Amino acid sequence: MSFMAAPSSSFLSGDSLRALYNMGSSRTLNHRRGSRLIVRADADYYSVLGVSKNSSKSEIKSAYRKLARNYHPDVNKEPGAEQKFKDISNAYEVLSDDEKRSIYDTYGEAGLKGSAGMGGMGDFNNPFDLFETLFEGMNGGGRSSRGSRNGAVEGEDEYYSLVLNFKEAVFGVEKEIEIRRLESCGTCNGTGAKPGTKSSRCSTCAGQGRVVSQTRTPLGIFQQTMTCSSCNGTGETSTPCNICSGDGRVRRTKRISLKVPAGVDSGSRLRVRNEGNTGRRGGSPGDLFVILEVIPDPVLKRDDTNILSTSKVSYIDAILGTTIKVPTVDGMVDLKIPAGTQPGSTLVMARKGVPRLNKSNMRGDQLVRVQVEIPKRLSSDERKLIEELADLSKGKTATSR
Ligand SMILES: [Zn+2]
Ligand SMILES: [Zn+2]
Repeated sequence: MSFMAAPSSSFLSGDSLRALYNMGSSRTLNHRRGSRLIVRADADYYSVLGVSKNSSKSEIKSAYRKLARNYHPDVNKEPGAEQKFKDISNAYEVLSDDEKRSIYDTYGEAGLKGSAGMGGMGDFNNPFDLFETLFEGMNGGGRSSRGSRNGAVEGEDEYYSLVLNFKEAVFGVEKEIEIRRLESCGTCNGTGAKPGTKSSRCSTCAGQGRVVSQTRTPLGIFQQTMTCSSCNGTGETSTPCNICSGDGRVRRTKRISLKVPAGVDSGSRLRVRNEGNTGRRGGSPGDLFVILEVIPDPVLKRDDTNILSTSKVSYIDAILGTTIKVPTVDGMVDLKIPAGTQPGSTLVMARKGVPRLNKSNMRGDQLVRVQVEIPKRLSSDERKLIEELADLSKGKTATSR
């Protein structure tokens, strides 16, 4: 289960790209020197694509297209080109997605891995799929049939929404969830064909599973091979299985035990690799995305990794100082109110906040705002004492005694 993998640093081999990288990473280095929190790992997705941090989506897209064209393994046969192509695609996958980009901007790569739980390897979408989405119709056949040669269709991603309480989000939790997803049909063994029936050759594609279309453009004739829609690329047509209506899949319930990492928040998404819907005709399964919603705590408010709370203190305690009990995610904790604490001041309880995603040894603070209570009514004795105090402070300024 994970979200993103680290981009490989083997990308930084070409000289031109090294230059690109250095240009882009100077910001990163400064950032790292100046701040006490190191969030950014070394290979920066922005520098991989050679764009600045505030680039627009279209700038990112065009930078990606340019680089992807140069390094696509169909075009570039140099060793390492394919790896570069993958790195470029990985960077683009993150930066072209508003949500992933903002996680990356805030937490760096660790955030992307963190929203995942455990960082897996190679956990990106197939870079070739990404490439093909952008370059639809541009490539002359060959690769567009990738993955669908036998009519295999990848399974769709499945989504599940999980509600956590405040502390579960702060400290992480293991949850067993029950998801509904499409699994291979047992009756037809996932083929979609009614058992006992014979399949016949598809007449649309003459059993090829693919049809070729030609488009005349000012640049020449583009030939495109597409999966046959009559037989979905299988080259055969058959009587549909009556359990799954020919889809080869049926909806089933599965229990999945999920490890939610410490530090997640509302809107965090966990990706569980390959636990989405089964693919068709041998296609790989989709992923399961668990979208988290966190029930707010009535007293403790979250501000990123810090927790904000308010404590009331009597005016006498504020003047003289005291120790109070403050609710925290670790239970009630003593907080020293120093003598002379001003109304509205904030006291810091170090490391009583939320662990940083994927770096649970780093924790935010709890910031306690002190609310000083002034009594609305006084007993006659209290009133007398306050009046004496008032005389005393007047006397202090008039005579010096
Ligand atoms: Zn079936
Ligand atoms: Zn066909």
